[in-house]
Amino acid sequence: MKKRALVAGGAGFVGSHLCELLLEKGYEVDVVDNLVTGNKNNIKHLFGKGLKWFDVDICNLHILHDPYHEIYNLASPASPADFDKMPEFILNTAALGHTALLDLAKERKARILLASTSEVYGDPLQHPQREEYFGNVNPIGPRGCYDEAKRFAEAMTMAYLRRFQVQTRIVRIFNTYGPRMRPQDGRMIPSFFSSALKGESLTIHGDGKQTRSLCYVTDLVAGIYALMQSSETSPVNIGNPIEKSVLEIADTVNALIGNKKPHTFLPAMPDDPKRRCPDISKAKRVLAWEPKVSLSQGLDSTLKYFKENVVR
Ligand code: NAD
Repeated sequence: MKKRALVAGGAGFVGSHLCELLLEKGYEVDVVDNLVTGNKNNIKHLFGKGLKWFDVDICNLHILHDPYHEIYNLASPASPADFDKMPEFILNTAALGHTALLDLAKERKARILLASTSEVYGDPLQHPQREEYFGNVNPIGPRGCYDEAKRFAEAMTMAYLRRFQVQTRIVRIFNTYGPRMRPQDGRMIPSFFSSALKGESLTIHGDGKQTRSLCYVTDLVAGIYALMQSSETSPVNIGNPIEKSVLEIADTVNALIGNKKPHTFLPAMPDDPKRRCPDISKAKRVLAWEPKVSLSQGLDSTLKYFKENVVR
């Protein structure tokens, strides 16, 4: 019998790549996604190949009748632009929506994985970030709606593990990029590509010395899948530990595209993390996982997507 997975947020950037991986591995895949930040185009090539899409909010799961072996919860707006536009929706999606998915996992005896985030570490005072670090989060700042939503979802996940023995997994995802990111979603790589392809100057907030560690999306979904198959119930960082400054990344994008416009520097965003780099020794140890795609390979594939789909 084929395994069946439910992917909440499957029409989003990461979710659509995860659906492709699960279908390749022979799963039947149901997607719940209300398209608040996702796009049907991300999954329409998978219709008729074992994927079904339910256009609902994750708070309304009563329409799902299938048994599930695995539930992946990736449903959450994730970009800084969304934090300004829909903070209460983000908090409710984590509190009410993730709890509804945990109840479904409990009822159907499914494993469930929460897509958490490196943002649970806030503007970190420890570097690189290990899973044991509790973080430095400002709950009332503009990023608080997202950081605290994910921290709440992690706590609720652990409650269902301890109290009801639901088979839970938590992945803490670090900055990931690749094809199907929304060009205007405010995240660094799509913003840089969109501007550079139009021959415009790249906008950098702050002095550009803040660092990011960029993981290519196929590496991330391989890590998510490996975690779901493992017996590890405590959080695991998945990301690429090669750290670059924002300025270096901007220069690399401009060099790749041949854009010569000088960068525009704007004031730093409030609570923007100054350094961000995962310690992935736990992922290496318990999942035998590490990233394989180099930054230049990943940027080439992303550029191809942006040229074909976004900037014509
Ligand atoms: P995304 O916005 O592309 O995908 C999220 C998807 O969830 C979208 O398709 C959206 O329509 C759907 N969704 C949101 N709220 C929903 C709700 N209440 N009901 C039904 N569907 C809903 O974002 P992404 O980058 O693909 O992120 C996927 C997950 O990974 C998110 O949970 C995010 O917090 C986490 N994450 C991503 C990154 C990254 O770098 N991409 C980093 C850390 C964590």
